[in-house]
Amino acid sequence: MSQRTRLIAGNWKMHCTADEARTLVDALLPQIVDAGDRDVLVAPPFTALSTVAECLRGSSVLLAGQNLHWEDRGAFTGEVSAPMLAAAGCSHVIVGHSERRHLFGEPDEVVGRKAAAALRAGLRPIVCVGETLAEREAGTTLEVVDRQTRAALAALEPAGLEQVILAYEPVWAIGTGQVATPEQAQDVHAAIRGLLTLLAGSRVAAGARILYGGSVKPDNIDALMRQPDLDGALVGGASLQPADFARIVRFAA
Ligand code: PEP
Repeated sequence: MSQRTRLIAGNWKMHCTADEARTLVDALLPQIVDAGDRDVLVAPPFTALSTVAECLRGSSVLLAGQNLHWEDRGAFTGEVSAPMLAAAGCSHVIVGHSERRHLFGEPDEVVGRKAAAALRAGLRPIVCVGETLAEREAGTTLEVVDRQTRAALAALEPAGLEQVILAYEPVWAIGTGQVATPEQAQDVHAAIRGLLTLLAGSRVAAGARILYGGSVKPDNIDALMRQPDLDGALVGGASLQPADFARIVRFAA
């Protein structure tokens, strides 16, 4: 059993007004009060961050942004920077989610700049990587994940590498109900940890948390978390249902 503290992170995507977010957090918190040996995080939309930060005060649940711009300030209409997220109460930020990559055309190099910007502001980036169905069927999963991971980490100092959390999210599993098997996920997680060993050394690689994301639900979390290189989950749809998310947080190790 690894010494890494497991992290269950909820990505709310473009769901919840501030009022709806308050209702969701108020329903969730009592259901996870005794989840002491694992970290829990929620990533609401920007407009609900301050409300959720207020609701989380006094709890150990962490707050994350879902995206950020790589500059700290400037003429970038519609964007939000790392210092702004930190000031709103975030300790983490999701970077390079597949919806950003595929729906908004975010290239690998931009993901790297965003990860670096997050670290400059004292935020821990949760860097998402993962292959499409076509890439898996073509047998290029490990190649794609290797390229995305290298690009995301390329601009980071050694100290920054220790702060990064990776999330393996096969695109074909996100929002589809088609979860990767524990073995499929484990193979990719082990490859990512191998790459981290090359890039940052064995101590950093052994301590790095690598989350799995893609149709994680109450009925599949336990089997996923039994894999040695799966250090938690990034949860989309199920994180909007307090009872489901609480059950995922309370996975049986
Ligand atoms: C996600 O948004 O990162 C995700 C994994 O979504 P879902 O759990 O709904 O597949």
